[in-house]
Amino acid sequence: MNDVQEHSKLRAAVGRTKDSLSIRRQLLAYIVAGVFILLVLFSITISWLAGKETSELTVNNAQQVARALAQQSVLALLTESEENADTALDQVMSFPDVAGAGLVTLEGEIFGWRGDARGENYFRKFNWQETRNYLILEEDDDNWFVASAVILTDNEGDSETELFESTEEKLGYAILSFSKETLTQINRDIILTIAITGGIAVIGLILIVGGAIQRQLTPLQALSEVMSHNHETGEHRLAKVHGAKEIEQMANSFNAMMLTLDEQDERLRNQRDQLEAEVKIRTAELTVARDAALTSSRHKSEFLANMTHELRTPIQSIIGYVDLAKEEAENEGQFDMASDLDKVTRNADRLLGMINCLLDLSKIEAGRMELNLSSTYLKDLLQNLAEATAPLFPRNNNKYLLDNHAGNPILRIDSEKVLQVLINLVSNACKFTENGTVTLRVESHSGHLIFNVIDTGMGIPANQLARIFDQFQQVESGDTRRYGGTGLGLAISKQFCELMAAKIKVESIEGQGSCFTVKLPIS
Ligand code: ADP
Repeated sequence: MNDVQEHSKLRAAVGRTKDSLSIRRQLLAYIVAGVFILLVLFSITISWLAGKETSELTVNNAQQVARALAQQSVLALLTESEENADTALDQVMSFPDVAGAGLVTLEGEIFGWRGDARGENYFRKFNWQETRNYLILEEDDDNWFVASAVILTDNEGDSETELFESTEEKLGYAILSFSKETLTQINRDIILTIAITGGIAVIGLILIVGGAIQRQLTPLQALSEVMSHNHETGEHRLAKVHGAKEIEQMANSFNAMMLTLDEQDERLRNQRDQLEAEVKIRTAELTVARDAALTSSRHKSEFLANMTHELRTPIQSIIGYVDLAKEEAENEGQFDMASDLDKVTRNADRLLGMINCLLDLSKIEAGRMELNLSSTYLKDLLQNLAEATAPLFPRNNNKYLLDNHAGNPILRIDSEKVLQVLINLVSNACKFTENGTVTLRVESHSGHLIFNVIDTGMGIPANQLARIFDQFQQVESGDTRRYGGTGLGLAISKQFCELMAAKIKVESIEGQGSCFTVKLPIS
């Protein structure tokens, strides 16, 4: 795993703690397990050593007793009479751990046996004729079996010269069975003693070592609590530096970290205060600038509104006088003059149209445009629209279609403004469509009248759709001059719609046509 993977793994694990045992419990568990293993090994070793020692002693003892019995049994074996060995056998039986005793002839005939019958059975199976040893030692799980040869010694010689010749004759064996009970008991006692003292030692150890571990861990716990507290509350509390060297180092490093964080916080606070102060100053400056700009904009709009209003009056009178002059010229047969005056009227009309647009716009911007609500029938509104736009259709050889699905409700609206919006849309449709159709579809839907002005004209490129409602915006093309216009009609229509809580939008496919929709609330 590389450093980056390791880092992201550690990041993901922040805040999660595994349900592991405390250090104290883990250490105690290791120590107790260690001491227990040591204790078991120790008790096995001790009991093995003690058992070995005891068994050697007991075997020695058994051999001594067997030898002594053999020495006292010469007569009994010579006579093969049990009575001669009675006293010796009884004495032997009184020795501790002697389980049985008797004599056996070289032919294997046992006599005088007393005590545990298992010993007698064991010796009976023994092959005495072929035995050359003087001392025999055998054992099973519960007993040792010892046999010592009974020897008759005969000393012949001259007592004066003191030259003796000694001959030995083996008569049989003194046989003994020795119980291992004492040895087993000693082993049991050893194990019990070790278990008791070991148990006490383990408990003592747990208490002493547990206390010592606790003393060592208390500072670590205190450090861990401060860390958790800081993590949960976001405080930078310092930890007490005490305990073992490593813990003191940890606490010191932690405190250093907290102090660095404090310094960083302080620096951040200062920077934030500084920034806030700067933002306040900038905001105040901007407010002053904005107020100044608003005031000057309002002055400009007011000036424009007054100016355009003042411009309208002389132009209207120019149009009036030109009409009179044209009539007179026609009456006097000066048709060239009448035609020139006709051009003057058309241009004056255009100029008046532009001034009206500017007047509307400046009134809106100066906040002086108001709604004049009145009751109107839908059909009257549509009639007025048809009359106002009738001269526009023949110009580009377009057809007009009215598709009314809304019936003829009474509307409480500012009919002047609604009419102006619709005239703008229909006149644009006529202007940008040649030899096509301009359809006005009217629908009524959930408290709204929906007007769709649909044409089959040149359409609007998708990348320009968003800006055609902005002031002075026209679709960029080489033909712009050809169509004329101010780029104000849609901007004013949009402002009017907003004033009437209506919505205006456009959908268009370049080369196929456009559909302008006005959604006007009527209830
Ligand atoms: P004007 O028509 O005076 O230029 P408008 O604000 O009414 O100003 O229209 C802005 C521009 O939107 C027009 O110049 C034209 O490019 C585009 N436009 C408006 N209506 C249509 C239409 N029906 N078909 C194609 N283009 C249109």
